[in-house]
Amino acid sequence: MALIKCSECASDVSDKAKSCPKCGAPVVLPPPVLTRTDTAKMWLMFLGLGAAAVWFIHHELNEAPAPEPTAAVASTAPYEIQALAACSKALKRAAKNPSGINIPYTTDLATAGGYMFNWDKGDGLTMQNGFGAKIDTQATCVVAEDGTTVIGLVVDGKKLIYNLPKHKK
Ligand SMILES: [Zn+2]
Repeated sequence: MALIKCSECASDVSDKAKSCPKCGAPVVLPPPVLTRTDTAKMWLMFLGLGAAAVWFIHHELNEAPAPEPTAAVASTAPYEIQALAACSKALKRAAKNPSGINIPYTTDLATAGGYMFNWDKGDGLTMQNGFGAKIDTQATCVVAEDGTTVIGLVVDGKKLIYNLPKHKK
């Protein structure tokens, strides 16, 4: 409870009173004045909303574009990319419709010397058949240490290239 000045007789009146006890004039409450703490609270709220908006926009931007497979390729060792490109070429040569082939990026599986790439069925390697239908394809491709010579290519169990070194265990 606070005391305010009566607008008619200027005597102190409780702000809870409906009228001035002295002159009977109706008590008119002054418009609420924003205190320092109120202003500070408003600023905090404002800044909070701003931060939330920034977070939201940032979040949306991060969510929106799925990382392109090319981004993964770009961050990989250049020799591995070269070897994968050699395999892509060999796969295109093996395909009935070279332009209808889809070769997704895959990592090099070789543990020592040369390169090996494998796509299991369902990995996204597709080849178009004579009717233009995309056929889920399995393929394994082995590249020599030079990174460009394909020495092994097996597509759906068919050995298309098989020049693997004989001494290989
Ligand atoms: Zn009064």
